[in-house]
Amino acid sequence: MEDNSTDTVVAQSNSSEEEIHATDIVFDCPHCNHSLVIDYRGAGLEIDCVECKQPVTVPIPAGMIIDDLDLSTGEVLTQLFQTRRTLLKSEQRIATLEESIDSLKLRRKELEKSRITTLHRCAELVTMCQTMLKQNNDLVGSINRMQSIISEEQQL
Ligand SMILES: [Zn+2]
Repeated sequence: MEDNSTDTVVAQSNSSEEEIHATDIVFDCPHCNHSLVIDYRGAGLEIDCVECKQPVTVPIPAGMIIDDLDLSTGEVLTQLFQTRRTLLKSEQRIATLEESIDSLKLRRKELEKSRITTLHRCAELVTMCQTMLKQNNDLVGSINRMQSIISEEQQL
């Protein structure tokens, strides 16, 4: 099957018997590792993986410059817009991630603070338990002493 259409750039699975051209870009989906093949004009575009349907950015082969693409002005503009949209999305994602890092840091600080408070309170409880045990021992000692005095008195 020969497809010389210059208008469609569609990713294919690398598993079929489709011929892979020297100009094709072969790469693995970062989500599902499915091997994908796309025409070189797809470089830098965001496409949906044919296997898992997740958005995937087609890698730009090392050394490939925009002149290699031999695109029409419209195609270049489309790629430019798509690249900028991807960039914008990435920037938004970065901002969101930075926000969640900040809130996680804050949360961590709060948890650390409450952990130290809990440790102090536990130490206070341990001290109180030790005091109570000591008082209990004193009490047992006194009771024993009283019992022995009573039995001594009873034997007289
Ligand atoms: Zn995939």
